[in-house]
Amino acid sequence: RRYEELSTIDELTGLHNRRFFFAEAEAAVARSLRYRHPFCMMLVDLDFFKQINDSFGHAVGDAALRDLAAALRQHTREGDILARFGGEEFELALPSTATDGACALAERIRLYVRGLHWDAEGVSFGLTVSIGLSSVDHDGRHQGRALVDLLLRQADKALYHCKANGRDQVFAYSDLPERQRAVASR
Ligand code: GH3
Ligand code: MG
Ligand code: MG
Repeated sequence: RRYEELSTIDELTGLHNRRFFFAEAEAAVARSLRYRHPFCMMLVDLDFFKQINDSFGHAVGDAALRDLAAALRQHTREGDILARFGGEEFELALPSTATDGACALAERIRLYVRGLHWDAEGVSFGLTVSIGLSSVDHDGRHQGRALVDLLLRQADKALYHCKANGRDQVFAYSDLPERQRAVASR
């Protein structure tokens, strides 16, 4: 059991890892297609996180990552699929959640993180996150792993948009200009 647990759990944060995420997200996305339920994907990436490691050391960075994982866990509900693949980015798959609801959740997470602070070496610091969102289009063109991959690529496009526009914000792939969407939807 311990081995099985290790193979699906991210050691630093206790969140699920990539392997678990893909298995669960694939099953959930299949259900959403079958029942024509909405389904959203969210990527939460810390802004300028490298500076935290550079200023205060890796251990402080690790502690902040753990606190963020706890904050995300606190904001999710049963059925949501939350993971860390490694790095300072978190993946969240939201079954039966439409874009509006996912945006509202993302905004709550963004504001919550903004309100946190940490202390290191007598210095208080805060962090912000950028959040990219995508949602299942019931056009029947993708399914299974290919659909999960597509959603992650699209959410990543939206995340990139946040980063390029000043960070500390939420953006949905469906709100990207048509030209930028065309590239990610292949
Ligand atoms: P951006 O706003 O563009 O996302 O900037 P960033 O600094 O967050 O992004 P970048 O990709 O340049 O750096 C990510 C940093 O995250 C690099 C690394 O130091 C840190 N990081 C990744 N994984 C871990 C980890 O497990 N522990 C710690 N302490 N830091 C980590
Ligand atoms: Mg980052
Ligand atoms: Mg990153």
